[in-house]
Amino acid sequence: MSQVQIHFYGDPCRSCGYGWHRASDSLLADVLELERTYRRVLDGVPGTARHPELTWCASAYVLHVADNLRIHGERMAGAAAGGEPPVFDQPNQDELSELRMYEKVPIEGALWSLDSVLAPYVAAYLAAAATHVELPHPVRGTQVAIDVLRGNVHDAHHHAWDLGRIVVAHRAASAS
Ligand SMILES: [Zn+2]
Repeated sequence: MSQVQIHFYGDPCRSCGYGWHRASDSLLADVLELERTYRRVLDGVPGTARHPELTWCASAYVLHVADNLRIHGERMAGAAAGGEPPVFDQPNQDELSELRMYEKVPIEGALWSLDSVLAPYVAAYLAAAATHVELPHPVRGTQVAIDVLRGNVHDAHHHAWDLGRIVVAHRAASAS
């Protein structure tokens, strides 16, 4: 599999503890649970809650993960259906955040967006895995579906860790 992300984050990830060699069934189960997982981690804090060391508010992290799944799902679905796989780059995440106005979206809207992509993403992954698509990526090299899935679930896991830090910082600020 692609080693670029493993070298960058560590295995397990030095920050969030994600292990890079899990099987697809376990990863797909995590994807389908993501909206509930995030809702549990957020524990009722508003979408505007922030951590002083993190770039984005809570809503923005949820929307970033949703858009990441959507972008990669589109490309897996397209390639699985026989389309020519594009070079697997993606928009700059900070520019996308500004264009999509992540910071202004209420947390329930962000969670709706996340929930709406989970089952379609899993369907796209399964189609891509079944058809053995190869997706060129300018940094990570050629990826097969499991590489994409592992990277996407890491993104979701890593930002759940960020959201947990935001919740702690928000509670501490509210208590002082
Ligand atoms: Zn991580």
